Amino acid sequence: MPFPCWGDAREGHDMLYEAVTQLDRAAALLGLDRNLADRLRYPKRALIVTVPVRMDDGRVVSYAGYRVQHNITLGPGKGGIRYSPTVSLEETTALAMWMTWKCALMNIPFGGAKGGVCCDPRAMSRRELQSMTRRFTSEIVMLIGPEKDIPAPDMATNDQTMAWMMDTYSMQMGYSVPGVVTGKPVVVGGSLGRREATGLGLCNTIFAAMERLGIGREKATAVVQGFGNVGAVTALELWKRKVRVVAVSDVAGGAYSPAGLPVDALARHAEAGGKLSEFPGATPVSNKELLEIPCDVLAPCAISGQITGENAPRIRCRILAEGANGPTTLDADDILVGNGTFVIPDVLGNAGGVTASYFEWVQDTQKFFWDISEVNRQLERIVLRAFRDVIALSEEKKVTHRMAALMIGIARVAEAMRFRGLYP
Ligand code: NAD
Repeated sequence: MPFPCWGDAREGHDMLYEAVTQLDRAAALLGLDRNLADRLRYPKRALIVTVPVRMDDGRVVSYAGYRVQHNITLGPGKGGIRYSPTVSLEETTALAMWMTWKCALMNIPFGGAKGGVCCDPRAMSRRELQSMTRRFTSEIVMLIGPEKDIPAPDMATNDQTMAWMMDTYSMQMGYSVPGVVTGKPVVVGGSLGRREATGLGLCNTIFAAMERLGIGREKATAVVQGFGNVGAVTALELWKRKVRVVAVSDVAGGAYSPAGLPVDALARHAEAGGKLSEFPGATPVSNKELLEIPCDVLAPCAISGQITGENAPRIRCRILAEGANGPTTLDADDILVGNGTFVIPDVLGNAGGVTASYFEWVQDTQKFFWDISEVNRQLERIVLRAFRDVIALSEEKKVTHRMAALMIGIARVAEAMRFRGLYP
C-alpha cells in the first residue's frame, strides 16, 4: 500500500457497498424518486486531512483523518469519531450514511456524519493520542460546531477524547462550547447516562423482542462479541436483568461458560488488565467460535462484517441484536431471516447512543441538565417507539426488519428533501 496510514480501503469498500446496496433496495421498495435516490447515494461533503503528530520518540508521523457529512437535511451532522487501522474514506462514508438513517428512524433532528483517524490507538501513548485528537479537531474545525456537525465517541474514543475535542474547539472560539461534541464527561457538560446509553438502548430492544417471542428472562442465554463501551454495558445489563450470559469476547478472544459468566467480576478483571480468555473458571473461546454458540440472544458489539454468507448457516440464535455498525452482511441477513432469526438491525439496535447524544446536545443548548431517571425514561420511550414502528412496517410490507428500519429512515429524509426543494 503506498500510504500505510491511509487505511486499507478494501474493508471500507465492502462496507460502502453494503450501505449503498441497502439504500438501493430500500429505495426500490419505497418507489423513491430517482433523483432523490441518486442524491442519497453520495455524501453531501467529505474532508480528508493530514494529522501530523510528534511521537514520544521525537519522530513526526502523519495520519490520515476524515470527516464525512452524508446528509444534513434534518439538522446538524451527527456521528462518532473512530480511531482504528481500518478507517478510510469509504468506511467513514458508509458509517455516515447509516447515521443519516438512524437519526431519521429515531425521529431526532440530526443528519448523518462520521469521522475518524487511521491509526493503531493501542500502540499510542496518552500524550500521542491527545496530540492527534487536538490536531485532528483543528483540521476539521471548519466543518464542526453545535449547529453544524457534532462528533461523539466511537471505537477507541471515549469521554476523554471528547473533552480534548471540546477544549480544542473552545480554545479556537475563545469561549467554552460544550455543544460541539457529545459523550463528554459530565463535569464539562456531558449527560448522565450517555456512556451506557448504546448498551441500554440495545437491551431495551432485546427485552422487547424477547417479550414478542415469549422468551422468559430467567431461562434465556446470551452471547456478546466486543467488551468495550457497547458490549460491556450490554453484557452487564443483561446479566443484571437475570439473563444467563454464557460468552463474551474482545479483540484478543473470549470467555465461555455454559453455566453463565459473572459479568460484574469479568468487567473488573478486564478493567484490571486481565485477558477475558484467562478469566478463572471459564473456557477460552475464539471470536469465530463464539458467534456459533447456540443461544437465545447473540449481540455482535465489536466491528463490521462478522456475520457473513459463510458463517450465517451455522449461527444458532433466536435474536440477533446488532450493537456494532454493519456486523451482518446482506447475504447473511437473508440466511438468518430465512432461518427464522429475529433480527434487530444496527440502525435500531445501537441507536440509543445517538438518542442520548441528542439529549446531551439539548441539555447543553438549554443549559439545563436532567437527572438519570429522566434520561433513561426518554431513552426507553424513543427506542421502543422506533422498535414498534419497525415491526409494524415489516409486518405491513412483508419486508425484513432491516429493510423496514431503513425504509422509515430513508422515507423521512426524502420527504424533508422534497419539501425543501432543490437549491438554487
Ligand atoms: P470500543 O472501542 O469501546 O470497543 C470495541 C470492542 O470490540 C473492544 O472490546 C475490542 O477489543 C473489540 N474488538 C475490536 N476488534 C475486534 C475484532 N476484530 N474481533 C472481536 N472484537 C473486536 O468501541 P464501542 O464504542 O463499544 O463500539 C463498538 C461498535 O459499536 C462499533 O461498531 C461502533 O461503531 C458501534 N457503536 C458505538 C456507539 C457508542 O456509543 N460507542 C454507538 C453506536 C454504535
